[in-house]
Amino acid sequence: MSALVIAWTTAVVVTLAAAVALTVLVRQRDRVRAELARTDPLTGLGNRRALLELGEPLLARGRPLGLLLLDLDGFKDVNDTLGHAAGDEVLVQVSRVLSGTLGDRATVTRLGGDEFAVLVPDPAGEAELELLAKRLLASLAVGGFHAGVVPIDLQGSIGIALSGVDGNSLGGLLQRADVAMYAAKRSRVGVLRYDAASDPHSAGGLELLGQLRSAMEEDQLALHYQPKVSGDGSRLLGFEALVRWNHPVRGLLLPADFLPFVERTHLIHALTRWVLITALRQAATWRAQGLSTSMAVNVSAVSLDTGLLGVVEEALALTRWSPGDLVLEITETAIVDDPAGARATVAALRERGVRVAVDDFGAGSTSLGHLRGLAVHELKIDRQFVSELVAHPEDEVIVSSVIALAHRLGLVVVAEGVETVAAADRLCALGCDELQGFFFARPLPADQAMAWARAEGLTGSAVELA
Ligand code: C2E
Ligand code: CA
Ligand code: CA
Repeated sequence: MSALVIAWTTAVVVTLAAAVALTVLVRQRDRVRAELARTDPLTGLGNRRALLELGEPLLARGRPLGLLLLDLDGFKDVNDTLGHAAGDEVLVQVSRVLSGTLGDRATVTRLGGDEFAVLVPDPAGEAELELLAKRLLASLAVGGFHAGVVPIDLQGSIGIALSGVDGNSLGGLLQRADVAMYAAKRSRVGVLRYDAASDPHSAGGLELLGQLRSAMEEDQLALHYQPKVSGDGSRLLGFEALVRWNHPVRGLLLPADFLPFVERTHLIHALTRWVLITALRQAATWRAQGLSTSMAVNVSAVSLDTGLLGVVEEALALTRWSPGDLVLEITETAIVDDPAGARATVAALRERGVRVAVDDFGAGSTSLGHLRGLAVHELKIDRQFVSELVAHPEDEVIVSSVIALAHRLGLVVVAEGVETVAAADRLCALGCDELQGFFFARPLPADQAMAWARAEGLTGSAVELA
């Protein structure tokens, strides 16, 4: 073989080897890139893309799939108070605990923020999914999470969707699990399976939402007013406005029938505005007729943002109502969901002279910690503790402690859900400032509320209690 041929062959071999090496490298790089694109950089778990790439082929092959969507409750609090680095540290621990809990049975992915999706192939029906969800929540409860040396207690809410029944694409399952998760969070039950009846995106929910705007314009919405009386029942102190929808086809709808849908859309802001203006107009009319009371309006958690102050200003200006006679009732859950935001809004309202009440107090998972630094005026004890007060001594212990605590914090205490004379008497003896419930009156249309006040001989007096 001539030297030329040898040199030529060597060159070819070297070139081929280089080409092969390059191909291998390129493949390797592509694999790493693809892997990275599927991986959540913080936790090392799969991300949304990984979830889709894993789930879609299984669905395409007709394999049953369960999807659990987990969202941590009040995690924003960790980020807000301890900083994002601490939040990240906790998220890494959470991701380990979650994947460790289910082992090979399921794949845990992180969708972003404090939201995790768990894919369960071939689930043994809804029962197994519920069991797995509960195991996940239980694992959070004993997770022993910490940011630096600060121990962090975490809870979560999980929504469940099942292929076939709840959807046939992963996108559809995710959306439905999200609806269920939101419902679980709202009702504080921990775990919920998707239910079309309470889905704002389902045909019924969409139809209602579509009708709501015209309902506001066409006077189908109405407010009913429930009185708040003094602890001894002798004075009328105020009314609480509660929204109703006189639906042309479905009849009288209660807030529970439509608010959960509305709260998931921007329409909630229009509703809050409508309720505020209508309630204050009514209160001003009553005042002109000699019935002088405060007016309380419920504000959904989602409305508790910086825009609320503008709407309140507008309603006060339109009705010439004095801010000190307006009470905004916000639920404890709203405060827990976004403590920093709630605090800022409440401070701004207080600055403006508006009174703020914490509604459903005691029903939420946290309580006292979040009251700290929150400039509220009133505490409304959740009716679950009030309704059985006389029959259950432990409820009485809770109620009397809350009253004592609230008074020491300088807050007015309102008991809601007072249904019997015995409960009213007991609450009065315990020093409760204001009472509200069916025993005194149900929520009534405006004309009946006025008639009730007249019949009871109550003209009201907007007394400042705090
Ligand atoms: P809430 O603010 O806790 O209002 C009290 C609810 O308990 C009302 O139900 C009222 O009818 C009912 N209630 C009053 N006294 C008694 C009693 O003695 N026993 C029993 N068993 N129940 C009593 P409603 O009107 O169905 O309202 C439910 C919830 O919907 C309200 O709970 C409030 O969170 C929300 N809501 C009502 N109106 C509005 C509104 O205009 N805007 C917003 N964002 N939420 C509203
Ligand atoms: Ca309320
Ligand atoms: Ca309440």
